Amino acid sequence: MNNRRGVLTVISGPSGVGKGTVIKRLFEIEDNLYFSVSATTRKPRPGEIDGVHYSFKTKEEFEHDIETGEMLEYAVFNGNYYGTPKSAVEQCLSEGKDVVLDIEIQGAKNVKKMMPESALVYLLPPDIEELKRRLVGRNTEDAETIAGRLHTARLELNEAPELYDYFIVNDLVDNAAIKIKDIIEGERCSKTAMQEVLKQILEEAENLA
Ligand code: ADP
Ligand code: 5GP
Repeated sequence: MNNRRGVLTVISGPSGVGKGTVIKRLFEIEDNLYFSVSATTRKPRPGEIDGVHYSFKTKEEFEHDIETGEMLEYAVFNGNYYGTPKSAVEQCLSEGKDVVLDIEIQGAKNVKKMMPESALVYLLPPDIEELKRRLVGRNTEDAETIAGRLHTARLELNEAPELYDYFIVNDLVDNAAIKIKDIIEGERCSKTAMQEVLKQILEEAENLA
């Protein structure tokens, strides 16, 4: 018997906090998850693979996908579009597969509106100096982009307490990944995730002699 609905977990956090790193670790310690590959108009970083890290699109292609209703949510972040393709996520959830999204706060807000049962997790840095060190140390953006991302981080950090369900300090990658795994484990037992299973048991109970 497994007709539980998949759990949707959203991971957000300021740029450079370690979302990508922690999610990679999460997938190493928990196979039973589906990562939703986002679409974006930003240029690939060295080592990023189209279709694995993102689906890299032109602005025209992205806007076409918005118009045809193919995006579950999308947002503009630091001058580029980012969005979650709808069909794969919906299919996974209806098949009982648990989905992880790595998205920024506007997207998280929209997901929560559409799917209030989703679990919203916000990753925090141990402190702001460490956040800057990580963002600069990653060495993937120029000074102007880093400044833009730190400014956006400040705006996000102000809004996050109202919106997110869980906050995890990313001190050690392993610790943060284990905490997300535990949250997903808990969400798998939520009333919404278990509603079909409950219904079936109740029906069976009705038929007891
Ligand atoms: P994000 O996806 O949030 O923008 P990344 O996963 O790209 O962040 O991480 C940014 C930088 O911080 C990378 O160089 C990564 O190796 C480093 N990093 C991530 N998590 C930790 C951690 N817990 N401790 C130290 N460095 C970390
Ligand atoms: P990066 O350029 O560092 O990969 O991502 C920048 C920001 O965009 C991060 O906060 C990341 O979580 C967010 N992001 C990535 N994919 C999506 C998406 O599909 N939708 C939204 N709303 N944000 C996304």
